[in-house]
Amino acid sequence: MTAKVLIADGFATHRISLAAMLDRAFYDVIVTDTGADALRRMRAERPDLVIASTALPDIDPARFCERARALNANAEMPVILLGGAPSSAERLALLAAGADDVLPAPVDRRLLLAGLRNRLRARAADADLSLRDDSGLTFGLAEAASAAIQPPARVALIEMSAEGDISVALERLKSLVPDRIELLTASEALRASATPPEAFIIVENGPQPRGGLTLLTQLRASLSVHKAALLYIGRAARLKQVAAALDLGADDVLVGALDPEELSLRLPRQITRKRNHDRQRANLRNGAKAALIDPLTGLLNRRYALPHVARLLERAKDRHRGFAVLLADLDRFKEVNDRFGHAAGDVVLRDVARRMGSVLRPGDLLARIGGEEFLVTLPDTSAGAAHAIAQRLRASVASGGVCVTGTREHPQVTLSIGVALSGIGAALGVDALLDRADRALYAAKDAGRDRVMAWHDPQDAPCRTVGAGR
Ligand code: GH3
Ligand code: MG
Ligand code: MG
Repeated sequence: MTAKVLIADGFATHRISLAAMLDRAFYDVIVTDTGADALRRMRAERPDLVIASTALPDIDPARFCERARALNANAEMPVILLGGAPSSAERLALLAAGADDVLPAPVDRRLLLAGLRNRLRARAADADLSLRDDSGLTFGLAEAASAAIQPPARVALIEMSAEGDISVALERLKSLVPDRIELLTASEALRASATPPEAFIIVENGPQPRGGLTLLTQLRASLSVHKAALLYIGRAARLKQVAAALDLGADDVLVGALDPEELSLRLPRQITRKRNHDRQRANLRNGAKAALIDPLTGLLNRRYALPHVARLLERAKDRHRGFAVLLADLDRFKEVNDRFGHAAGDVVLRDVARRMGSVLRPGDLLARIGGEEFLVTLPDTSAGAAHAIAQRLRASVASGGVCVTGTREHPQVTLSIGVALSGIGAALGVDALLDRADRALYAAKDAGRDRVMAWHDPQDAPCRTVGAGR
């Protein structure tokens, strides 16, 4: 699906040439000649991006930005203003009013298209994370545009050539934002650190390019900082390079010398956006974890375990390794609940999980797949080793009662375990393997509980008690 761009300009010739340029770049273009109509269409048609003239016939551009922002609180419709040669003060006023960018006219085609691609990519990334994260957190870039409301960030500023003196601009920037801004060399910026900067500003202000784009690409590819906000400042005489920075992954670019006032408006937006992304990714991770973990015992749950067993079994087959599955069920657990109460039953379940986990090897998997039922997978395991581990599990549970706080009772429980093995070269599927373990478990129950039984070929005997003692 192509992105929909709304063009608002009072001059027909401007509208037509801009629309033709965007049309050639395969954007879906809508045009209007007034600010009021542009705002109405933003509400009704939700374009992906808005390009508006700074000289709309019916509304002052700052007022237009404020009104556009009001119906666009999550910055899902970026607004780029285009026109004349705005003074630095005018640009700042428009950025502060909510414009995402202010470009002089006639616009550099390459820079405009790279800027569009960049903003649309950013918007797609924001939307994708918001969609996957159902915590309700939205971007709220408009509110966060003020630096005062977020804690200071560590920001690295890298000057690619020492030709222009940026010390005055840097001091001014430090006085405008609460962030800790450090001057780093390119190699220092790339060096991994425990607390990497949240934002990098690459300043390439010398007459010759000095590797700023390479650094940008390396930072984006670096494992430790690839999620940081990246800003690139390039010379007006080298717009091609500034446009390339946008396509190489810069989150924002500034053209010209380091302008502390403008940077103090743009930097907080990028830091907020980066932090929102971090929060959303963390929510996603926690949500994913919650979907896989049983809250009572902290073990993996059934939903995770069963598909995972199928993957483990396939891998064991591919590698010609033995693979064992154990199904374990607490004996007469209902009686524990009846006698000591459900809360005490929960304490027992947690303790059983802990005991079982403590006798398994790294790489073995333990999951709670039902109320008092557990599944264990033992990769790379022979029949003899599987039986020995099953006996260790059984003994760990039978070894003593469980302390239940607030009572003098020590509920004692036992475990029955069924073992099934997929030997080397076996073609057994996961369902058949689990079915065998289940039948062995029920044979263990029938035989009196607190014991381990292994599935065995029915032509021989249905199941066989294994191990010493029970
Ligand atoms: P068997 O030896 O035949 O397995 O007997 P059993 O009593 O263990 O089996 P049954 O299936 O009849 O009962 C299982 C009991 O496990 C019933 C339920 O009260 C208890 N249970 C299941 N989940 C939980 C839980 O999360 N907490 C507590 N406290 N009890 C649970
Ligand atoms: Mg039971
Ligand atoms: Mg059961």
